[in-house]
Amino acid sequence: MAYSLHVEFSYVYFLQLNFIQVKFYRERNGWFLSRALLRAVVRKIAFAKGREMIIWDPARPKPSFRAVSSSYFAHLEINDLRLMTYVLQDTHAHLDFPAFDKDREEVIERARKAGIEKIVCVGCDSASSDRCIELAHKYDFIDASIGVHPSDADKWNTDLANKFIVQAKGDKKVVSIGEIGLDYFHLTHPKELQKRVFREQLELAKQVGLPVCVHMRESASDVYDVLIDSGIERVTLHCFNEGLEFAEKAWARGWVLGFGGTITYPKNEALRKVVAVCPSELFVLETDCPFLPPQGHRGERNEPAYVVEVERVVREVRS
Ligand SMILES: [Zn+2]
Repeated sequence: MAYSLHVEFSYVYFLQLNFIQVKFYRERNGWFLSRALLRAVVRKIAFAKGREMIIWDPARPKPSFRAVSSSYFAHLEINDLRLMTYVLQDTHAHLDFPAFDKDREEVIERARKAGIEKIVCVGCDSASSDRCIELAHKYDFIDASIGVHPSDADKWNTDLANKFIVQAKGDKKVVSIGEIGLDYFHLTHPKELQKRVFREQLELAKQVGLPVCVHMRESASDVYDVLIDSGIERVTLHCFNEGLEFAEKAWARGWVLGFGGTITYPKNEALRKVVAVCPSELFVLETDCPFLPPQGHRGERNEPAYVVEVERVVREVRS
């Protein structure tokens, strides 16, 4: 008897979360689990070469398997064999902002040199979303997210919605709708307007079949309600800054948390507790640059290369 291992890859998540479906086909000689084959599988998963870890314990009678991935790592477990790869991405960057006008190319080059393999450039309004798309076309490792930020809620209208639909449907580099959400800290616009604009963009995301990247500040409970009402499934709560209780509600829905520079701040022990126990497939790394630089760069402009520091803290906290 021989069993063969068949692996398929499909992009199911905008942050290039490679969801791996592993299928075993029953044949004659028991489960066939070649270490070389698994190594090859991991090579396929590994867009980050040299970040593979292999732990091997072949002595298990029955194969059980699990494959999970996040922006932080992907792993495939078969019996007690764990194949793991690390993936480094900045899933939330505002590279189109004027803060980068003088040295944008150098910033992007530094990110590449730091080993960042994907950057999602996130739009905040119509013009900013267009600039993100331009950057995504210029650089192979940059993708674009388009949307209207709650602070720009007054700029949302039907024409813009129609434009986003065309862009989202016609352009493979547009990978999500965002950033959208509710900001009750700044309250630049009334809550009711923010909610309407948020709801309509969630509908748009469902219509074009893209996930959403959500901004929330002092608005977690309303964000939760609006998301639930909308029935949207693929959600990233960017720059997550809530407590464990809310995090658990999000995980129960399969929502992904974005961890950025704020997890590196000494006072943020509560947030690191969330990082420590977050399911590995339910978080991603981000910078939100030019804002929120990690501890080592407080007071400076943030940039995608600094996501390495976020990753370091994630590893420390979770080890
Ligand atoms: Zn942002």
